[in-house]
Amino acid sequence: MHLIIAEKNIAANRIAQILSGKDKVSAKKEGGVNVYTFGDKISIGLRGHVVEVDFVEGYTNWRSEERPPRSLIDAETIKRPTEPAIVKLIQKIAKKANRVTIATDFDTEGELIGKEAYELVRAVNPKVPIDRARFSAITKEEINRAFSKPSDLDFDLAAAGEARQVVDLIWGASLTRFISLAAKRGGGNILSVGRVQSPTLAMIVDREREIESFIPEPYWEISLTTEKDGQSIVARHAEGRFTDKKAADAAYAGTKDPLVVTEVKEGKRVDRAPTPFDTTQFIVAAARIGYSAANAMRVAEELYMNGFISYPRTDNTIYPPSLNLDSILTTLEKTKFAQDVAWVRKNRRAKPTEGKKSSTDHPPIHPTGIATEEQLGENWKLYELVVRRFLATLSPDAEWATMRIGMDATGQNYIATGSRLTEPGWRTVYPYSEAKDSILPVVKKGEKLKIQDLNLEEKQTQPPPRYSQSKLIQVMEELGLGTKSTRHEVIQKLISRKYIEGNPLRPTLVGKAVTESLEAHASTITRPDMTQKLEQAMEAIKVRNTSRDGVVDDSRKMLHQVFDELEPNEAVIGQEIMGQTDEELTIGPCPVCGKDLRIRRKGGSQFIGCNGYPDCTCNISLPGTMWGSAVRTKKVCEVHNLFHVSLIAKGARPWDMGCPLCQLIEQQKEHYAKMPAMTEALQQKLLDAKIFSLYELSKFEPAVLTKKLGITKKQAETLIHEANDVLDLIRRRSECKKFMKQFVPPKRGRSHTKVMNGFTESGIDCIGDIASATIESLKKTGLSEEEAKTLKTEAISLVAKNQLKDMGIPAVSLKRYQEAGFLTPEDIASAHPAYLAFRTGISIETVGKHVTLIAQSLGKPDPVKISKKAFESGKIELTSLPGVGESTLEHLYRAGIFDKKSLISADPAKVAKSGGLSKDHLKKLQAAAVV
Ligand SMILES: [Zn+2]
Ligand SMILES: [Zn+2]
Repeated sequence: MHLIIAEKNIAANRIAQILSGKDKVSAKKEGGVNVYTFGDKISIGLRGHVVEVDFVEGYTNWRSEERPPRSLIDAETIKRPTEPAIVKLIQKIAKKANRVTIATDFDTEGELIGKEAYELVRAVNPKVPIDRARFSAITKEEINRAFSKPSDLDFDLAAAGEARQVVDLIWGASLTRFISLAAKRGGGNILSVGRVQSPTLAMIVDREREIESFIPEPYWEISLTTEKDGQSIVARHAEGRFTDKKAADAAYAGTKDPLVVTEVKEGKRVDRAPTPFDTTQFIVAAARIGYSAANAMRVAEELYMNGFISYPRTDNTIYPPSLNLDSILTTLEKTKFAQDVAWVRKNRRAKPTEGKKSSTDHPPIHPTGIATEEQLGENWKLYELVVRRFLATLSPDAEWATMRIGMDATGQNYIATGSRLTEPGWRTVYPYSEAKDSILPVVKKGEKLKIQDLNLEEKQTQPPPRYSQSKLIQVMEELGLGTKSTRHEVIQKLISRKYIEGNPLRPTLVGKAVTESLEAHASTITRPDMTQKLEQAMEAIKVRNTSRDGVVDDSRKMLHQVFDELEPNEAVIGQEIMGQTDEELTIGPCPVCGKDLRIRRKGGSQFIGCNGYPDCTCNISLPGTMWGSAVRTKKVCEVHNLFHVSLIAKGARPWDMGCPLCQLIEQQKEHYAKMPAMTEALQQKLLDAKIFSLYELSKFEPAVLTKKLGITKKQAETLIHEANDVLDLIRRRSECKKFMKQFVPPKRGRSHTKVMNGFTESGIDCIGDIASATIESLKKTGLSEEEAKTLKTEAISLVAKNQLKDMGIPAVSLKRYQEAGFLTPEDIASAHPAYLAFRTGISIETVGKHVTLIAQSLGKPDPVKISKKAFESGKIELTSLPGVGESTLEHLYRAGIFDKKSLISADPAKVAKSGGLSKDHLKKLQAAAVV
């Protein structure tokens, strides 16, 4: 049997479909993993890496004394399965295989993933031949070619990947730990540091500093407007930018009619067709149509896996001679682009355009299969981009006719330029960049024109722009930071670590703080040199100029040097970072005491508290961290001088909450409306006295409040009383909502809040209200019949439980009563103690005590008292009668019969009614008892 191992499940499936030819592929799941079988072949997909590099046991404790962060540098590493189900299945099948083909992606990462699979196979089957199929597109031709001429795994290429993995692990883990511990951060709040990540962040921080320190300088520009045959001409002063105001004013004043044409120059400009797509250029073009780098790559990978485009991770911008461009055109003829293809065939340039970079692994990104818009949905836009780019690279250059008119206005020179697209060329098939004509009318040298308008504009020089994602990727590439496969991931990571934000990108306070501290104490980490050196070493491993272990060792040495610089400064680094990030959590002066208000987090909850605590108890609650972490924004409330707060959650837009105090005050209005004694004037008095919430109000002593608000003691008492009532109501409602959520699932158009609003309208404010509500009224709030019934039953049970608890029944017993079906106090009080003891297994004397407690609470007479001895001897008396087993005993107890005496005195008619034992049966037992 021939086992084929692909990089991902979809690739495994497509490869099976292609190789099976006319045979049918049977798809099955084994242990949750998809398996594609055809003929004697089995195809399975990995999930990228199925093992990960990690440290050996014993390094998980961050605060270990014996193993400080530095110890991670020399810690031994091992490979651990991350996808055990896939690993297990591959090994199970590999045991029986007589050939294995590794068909992972064709690049360093793919080679490493292939090597991981190779090792898994070798571990269980030392002899089976293992070969490697390399392809740049998952198409019929490419796959058939790759499988008919397989080669061997490239262990050097894989070793380069391995070196990167190990080095990244060591750098990232040891430095992240060191910096996080120094800044006293842990859990989800760690400060990550990375080999590629940190220099990239430093570039963004650098740019921000340039922008911040930029001092704009004024300059002046002069332009004039004239006209010929109704067509206007706008001309700039030949001087361009005037940096001297006086000179500008003089030129402006000196510009006078007549305006004489001194020169007319016509020319031609060639507008070169774009070069083939490599990863970076693809990301840049995708950004222009609205894709983030990570998104563009995700879609590209999907298109590749499904055979629509070639492998999207490539540095190549020159089509290799082996690539059959004609057959790609033929393929595209069957798509929506048939007309464009026909145009390209007719106008095709002699040789396709070429970029500067050529590499042997993959061709530039190009279309490989036909697709329709319906088939691809949203992904169509990027498929179309790849197709059109491909067509453009085969199309002729575009041409523009240009015109330049020189003019003189009494000694002041002006220039107007115009251009017109004369040959659209490649622009016919690639409409992504605008081609705007600016056409000038025909004028002759010496011609006199009239100045219609003259303009002197003051402008300012601009700081350099922030990086967009695609620009950053281009610069990373120039600096040798990361690889075509990792650059967009690095940016994504910086965003998710909250080091950078926005589009274009800018650093957060944390990002700045960490970068500045690292720059000050161990700048190696933030400079691109070190990481460049490593990329070069990686290339050297590929061609066997150096070994994996050599590179890893060098990197360890470098890292030790870094720690030599860092360790003595741990305390300072911690202070620097904490000092700066503190700022991010400080939102402004406390309205009560003037000290700083800060965002504080505790477990899953967060709130704004005062630095003056415990003297000042000013406190504003915030939504839990599940809604996002609270951070301050740049806006400031004009009334309270506090920064606005926004919640930032992964993968969601920030939720701007505005000024937290304004929010709090707004919320309280709703609560105050429920207080009969509250007036607008009183609310204003509360604000003036810096009492911002209902909760604070409820905590006041009447005497203190009287003084603070200048009201009577009676008024103060009423206010405090009413505030407590409203708080109580809020508490009960929130309890009620919590309870309802347990039994009522949310549905489209029926959120829990909506149901709760319905409850409020129907006057249902607590769980007790649910217990006594009618099913009809519950249904009105949007519940189904069944949900209403369940909710009511559960509410009754809960209310009863609480009542019983209040009456003094211990929780353990309570559970037994409930399990035996005695839910309410009435259920228990109306049952005979003997029956209760029998059903619950609680001793008769304890039951007696419970029933007495309940009867007293309900105002009922005390129950009959039965001693343990009497109960036990009674049981012997009854069971010694003929035919009395457990079942009869239960009926007797239920009827209150627990010994011979009570049996003989029982009224058969009553018993038949209550206990279910027939009159005749009881009479027979009575007769037997008398004997
Ligand atoms: Zn305060
Ligand atoms: Zn405010």
